[in-house]
Amino acid sequence: AQRDIDLKAYIRHIPDFPKPGILFYDISTLMRNPDAWQMAMGRLARQVAPFKPDILAAVESRGFLTAAPLADRLGCGMLMLRKKGKLPGRTVSHTYELEYGSDTLEIQEDAVSPGQRVVIMDDLLATGGTLSASAALLRKAGAEVVGASVLVELTGLGGRAKMDGIPITTLLSYE
Ligand code: 5GP
Repeated sequence: AQRDIDLKAYIRHIPDFPKPGILFYDISTLMRNPDAWQMAMGRLARQVAPFKPDILAAVESRGFLTAAPLADRLGCGMLMLRKKGKLPGRTVSHTYELEYGSDTLEIQEDAVSPGQRVVIMDDLLATGGTLSASAALLRKAGAEVVGASVLVELTGLGGRAKMDGIPITTLLSYE
């Protein structure tokens, strides 16, 4: 039966990507199996629904993949958090530090209204740099960040601790 699908079996582990020594968790193999992907989206929807989001904030680019089907299932809106220079019109940006250098995320200035309940969506939580920068940007734009949701959490990297209290749901976690 469909409910017995072990979703972890569909996550492929690719060593030395994007750099030597890094183990990459590849969700492509989950997405290309219709039963597994449908099950994953169903479980994700059940985790995110209790946040009662008005809008889902999708982090470029793999956050787009889960936010779009989920917005449709939950009947809420979605918005894109994008790398610098990709969004038309007036934007708000936030620059954050990476291990080497920095990166900038942007949101359209009018994407959220004050008091709107926003849930951030991405594929994977590692160090928490991306999710915490996303939360900071959304707050700058006036949103209330009520939660975050990822498919995969690598629990050993302390990402959750960076989210100062924002509840995070995860479908699959790895040490
Ligand atoms: P963090 O900012 O938490 O260190 O890294 C998470 C971000 O990097 C996410 O946006 C995610 O898409 C990407 N990322 C880092 N490592 C992996 C990985 O092993 N697999 C996938 N699918 N994404 C990763």
